[in-house]
Amino acid sequence: MIPFVDLKSQYLSIKQEVDAAILKTIESCAFTLGPDVAAFEKEFASYCTVKHGIAVNNGTSALHLALLAANIGEGDEVITVPFTFVASVAAIYYSRATPVFVDIDPRTFTMDPAKIEAAITPRTKAILPVHLYGQCADMDPILAIAKKHNLIVIEDACQAHGAEYKGRRAGSMGDMGAFSFYPGKNLGAYGEGGLVSTNNDEFNRTIRMLRDWGAEKKYHHVLKGYNYRMEGIQGAVLRVKLKYLEGWTEQRRAAAANYARFFAGSNVRIPEALPHNRHVFHVYAIRTAHRTEWMDALNKQGIASGIHYPIPVHLLPAYADLGYKAGDFPHSEQAANETMSLPMFPELTAQQCQTVATAVKALAEAKPAAA
Ligand SMILES: *Cc1c(COP(=O)(O)O)cnc(C)c1O
Repeated sequence: MIPFVDLKSQYLSIKQEVDAAILKTIESCAFTLGPDVAAFEKEFASYCTVKHGIAVNNGTSALHLALLAANIGEGDEVITVPFTFVASVAAIYYSRATPVFVDIDPRTFTMDPAKIEAAITPRTKAILPVHLYGQCADMDPILAIAKKHNLIVIEDACQAHGAEYKGRRAGSMGDMGAFSFYPGKNLGAYGEGGLVSTNNDEFNRTIRMLRDWGAEKKYHHVLKGYNYRMEGIQGAVLRVKLKYLEGWTEQRRAAAANYARFFAGSNVRIPEALPHNRHVFHVYAIRTAHRTEWMDALNKQGIASGIHYPIPVHLLPAYADLGYKAGDFPHSEQAANETMSLPMFPELTAQQCQTVATAVKALAEAKPAAA
């Protein structure tokens, strides 16, 4: 069996260190926030090349607090993409603002900057690009449009730990970045976790208060806040794992290079990493017009696969109130219909990549992928 991800083998490779870190946290009784969380914030901020990291309880909370810190609320509009995990859009709802969608660039699956200006209205307050699958959105034009229209940029970097765009790290380019440490993400907690990255002192101050009941100091609540604190154990685990993240990222990139090598010369449509991007391959998605068939066939051969994501957010029943319909975002809809994710995790061997690629190529030859 070739699994889709393999969290167990990674744990076993760092078991002693992680177990010791967890026990130490329990013995210290620093169960929520505390010294390991504070140290992790500094270490992850430095990894992202930003001044501040504010640790929270998950990636959705990170997006929510970034929006609130930017003073986004009722009556405001936030531009994002419908081809994303639902949380990008849910967080906009949490802030009571209205999500406004623009389509993706079909080459990269990220926001098409050429579509943004037509979506801007006098109510637009922010742009929220998603660095989907581990590849940064085309940030230079997005930042230029934001500057021209005086908009905040919040990067959804929940899938993009360590990704780079023209040498700049994900989470360091916009006003704020949001990261998730859900176990399956490139840097995963042993539970839930998230973080906001920013160079802005004021946003840092506000988000620190908002995550802990809006308190300036204990019981002095100056803002209507939340309980979005990161647990101490997660901070301890994440500190251990962060030391290995660059190595794991290079292993993911090597696995992607192996896939590309084994797929070379076939008609399988593999992911495209733009030359100025450091793609960190949270997800390795190919395209096919015969997805259900291919997934079933792979499954029978013991090869796991997934779909990220089968329904674009504008067509989800939960967001029908936005009034969008099928056909509104053709590239997002086509991506949702065609993408299929192959096994991708740092420990994936060249041999396993070859097994997967050989199986997929056989399917593609039997039934060529749509052009
Ligand atoms: C995982 C994810 C989130 C949400 O993170 P959680 O930690 O699960 O709340 C948001 N956006 C994207 C693109 C994600 O992949």
